[in-house]
Amino acid sequence: MRIGIIGAGIAGLSAAIGLDQRGHEVTVFERSFAPATTGAGLTLFGNSFEAFDFLGIGDEIRAISTDCMTSMTLGQRRPDGSWLTKAPAAAYTSMRTVHRRDLHERLTELLGSDRIRYGVDARVAADGSPSINTSGETVEVDLVIVADGIHSRNRARLGLDPGLHYSGYTAWRGVTHQPVDLQGCAGEALGRGQIFGCIPLPHDAVYWFATLTTPAGGRNEDEKAALLSLFQGWHSPVSECIEATRAEDILRHDIHDLARPLRRYTRGSTALMGDAAHAMTPNLAQGAGQGIEDAATLVLCLGEAEGTVEAALARYSQLRTRRANPIMRRSRTAGRLFQMGHPAFAAARNGLLKASPDRALLQVSKALHHWPQPR
Ligand SMILES: Cc1cc2nc3c(=O)[nH]c(=O)nc-3n(C[C@H](O)[C@H](O)[C@H](O)COP(=O)(O)OP(=O)(O)OC[C@H]3O[C@@H](n4cnc5c(N)ncnc54)[C@H](O)[C@@H]3O)c2cc1C
Repeated sequence: MRIGIIGAGIAGLSAAIGLDQRGHEVTVFERSFAPATTGAGLTLFGNSFEAFDFLGIGDEIRAISTDCMTSMTLGQRRPDGSWLTKAPAAAYTSMRTVHRRDLHERLTELLGSDRIRYGVDARVAADGSPSINTSGETVEVDLVIVADGIHSRNRARLGLDPGLHYSGYTAWRGVTHQPVDLQGCAGEALGRGQIFGCIPLPHDAVYWFATLTTPAGGRNEDEKAALLSLFQGWHSPVSECIEATRAEDILRHDIHDLARPLRRYTRGSTALMGDAAHAMTPNLAQGAGQGIEDAATLVLCLGEAEGTVEAALARYSQLRTRRANPIMRRSRTAGRLFQMGHPAFAAARNGLLKASPDRALLQVSKALHHWPQPR
């Protein structure tokens, strides 16, 4: 089958690799002129690796990621460093971290960059029929995959766009360029309307993120200085992580998700995938993971369809809306809980976290961190 994929992000590349390996003729259209070289860290759980394994590249991705959390204490703390919850080890044994740049590079290598047409702004047909428009050219295919990210214009073109919803908070991310001693601990500290999290990456780097409840659109002239001031007095090594990061490597994004979950991820011969289908807040660290699951599920559905592409797409849409939409909703709820700014609500949140039994965390982890591979 001829398959056109719009977007060379994590979801589009993962799908392209799986489909290429199964003998399909795949072309990826990417608006940027070169592979992504920026980005911070990414946490991937067992569900991502189960899907990567299905796509035949699990070991390749394990090789560029780290699982060193197994030797650390992970959980949620107060800004002074005292623990609210320590996650039971079984809840995070499947967790690995990777630098996004390395993941993009590896996925691009595994596909072969000759399969990617860079610098192409690609458009779908509004009725979902199987063709892709680029400036001046219409490419006929048998199936179109739209993996063009949270701001997908193709989602709107297909009439499937519910709009975006601002979560109420902004996020900074960074990767240290000097070693920082995490003192055997990782996870996040929850303040009032502020969170700081840090986690090890391969090559002794640390990936950290920080959030602040604030109106959208704000910017500081010097984000690094602003962060150091915002998180002054928080436990060690919060300011050490910020200090050990080059100012130009600090990224800031206002956090949005889809205003409403989509009722279907397909129209005609076109399937939405990744953030284009279910952009979610990062609170459960599942955005990319769900995109990787999408890729594996579509490959599986196309492989098992006894006949039509339409049947495979219908199954894909049903399976993926059932799995990813509830995760999107839970992620938004978790964001609201974690970002609480009012002292009374923040105290209630802390009480709730402290009282959470291990078995509740394990149940959540079991459901989230395992790809329910369709049989
Ligand atoms: C602060 C933060 C932290 C996060 N942390 C995690 C985490 O720890 N774990 C996790 O699993 N997820 C995390 N996520 C979510 C994750 O980053 C995204 O879900 C994931 O990157 C989405 O991948 P994608 O391939 O769907 O889209 P993208 O990565 O956005 O890729 C879309 C691609 O499409 C291209 N494109 C757009 N329009 C066109 C067009 N018209 N024609 C051609 N190409 C086009 C773009 O240039 C881009 O390359 C986080 C998100 C944020 C904001």
